Amino acid sequence: MSAVNERKTADAIIVGGGVHGASAAYCLAKSGVDVVLFEREYLSSGGSGRSAAGLRQHFGTEVNCRLAKYNLECFPTLEDELGGEHKLEFTQWGYLWIAYTDESKAQLEKNVALQQGLDIPSENLTPQEIKRRWPYIDVNRMIGGAFCARDGHINPHALTMAYGRAAQKLGARVRTYAPVERLLASGDRIKGVVAAGEEWSAPRVLLTAGPWSTPLAATVGVDLPVTPERHNLLVTEPIEPFECPMTLCLDDGAYFKQVPNGSFFFGRDDQDEPKVFESGNSAKFLEGVTKSVLQRIPSLKGVRVVHQWSGPYDVTPDHQAIIDWAPVEGLWINCGWSGHGLQFGPSGGRLAKEMFFGERTFADIRNFRLSRFAEGDLVIEPAFI
Ligand SMILES: Cc1cc2nc3c(=O)[nH]c(=O)nc-3n(C[C@H](O)[C@H](O)[C@H](O)COP(=O)(O)OP(=O)(O)OC[C@H]3O[C@@H](n4cnc5c(N)ncnc54)[C@H](O)[C@@H]3O)c2cc1C
Repeated sequence: MSAVNERKTADAIIVGGGVHGASAAYCLAKSGVDVVLFEREYLSSGGSGRSAAGLRQHFGTEVNCRLAKYNLECFPTLEDELGGEHKLEFTQWGYLWIAYTDESKAQLEKNVALQQGLDIPSENLTPQEIKRRWPYIDVNRMIGGAFCARDGHINPHALTMAYGRAAQKLGARVRTYAPVERLLASGDRIKGVVAAGEEWSAPRVLLTAGPWSTPLAATVGVDLPVTPERHNLLVTEPIEPFECPMTLCLDDGAYFKQVPNGSFFFGRDDQDEPKVFESGNSAKFLEGVTKSVLQRIPSLKGVRVVHQWSGPYDVTPDHQAIIDWAPVEGLWINCGWSGHGLQFGPSGGRLAKEMFFGERTFADIRNFRLSRFAEGDLVIEPAFI
């Protein structure tokens, strides 16, 4: 909520306080931009806070590999950069992909070749090598894998909060429990937003509202092909940490990993889950995910489940993000991360700042342009879960 006499103008308004909105607020405020961020609930209450927070450089398209590499370079020093108030729990226990079919194995090998060409230290592993490094993983029927030891984990709430706090310290106004009802345009130029019942004006508005970006963009006639898709996660009681890497199966989309407090996360892609914004619980998920994961790490049998959560992916037809200026002048968009966007938080902020100032972006993000859907020029990200 705003104070009665508060100035309701800004250089830039950000809609959505997930990791991308908070990082953008930080980067813009650091560059002296007068910025206001509106978040409908609390920071990280959307996909960011529901994330498994795996950080990986294993992608199958160059743009994602390059950006992921940049982000992995940012994470080790980010806690200090953002003031140290929030412990980010950054760990590098690695990220292991496993394959049970020739098709998946071939895809992993293709991805690793791309990554190695970009100086990402990924490697192909045989089931025997996997067994040797992680004896607790059952390699029965497994035919191959890919591993990157520099990949890891971060606490997604702390990351988003840390960005929000650092932005505030630099003068950004962060308004939580302040939903944006609609965007405001005059002709084909953005004018501001209506937030918590009040009109705010700004010549630039950044939309970082995850899947909710679609209905918000529609309020100024912009069509985004971004749809919600519910994904679940299960959390176990903490057990003795043995630095189990994120282990993910390309064939059935099931994954598990240990986080620094010792808990395990289990997740699984299930295309039968409802395509909705709302979170919810599904017994089918619990049954399916435990069955898949316990086959791969049988020693976890008997570990107690302490909770389950779900959240929406913001999915595009090619599983690539949209980072671009919209057809409405002054409106720019960063959404559509299709389930792998948390790790791109630092680059999201940097790109937002570069685009605001009309600078050349540090990475080639042509694949993320909005017009690609109308042009039918899609480059599909194959490392999608
Ligand atoms: C189960 C699960 C596992 C995942 N695992 C990983 C992973 O391992 N690694 C990874 O990198 N990514 C993962 N992701 C994906 C990742 O969480 C998202 O891609 C990323 O967090 C998107 O961040 P964002 O800032 O774009 O959007 P969000 O975090 O969704 O933020 C959007 C924000 O906008 C707010 N909002 C909505 N409407 C309004 C409004 N009208 N006014 C104001 N604010 C509004 C929402 O409340 C929300 O806080 C996972 C996601 C899920 C659900």
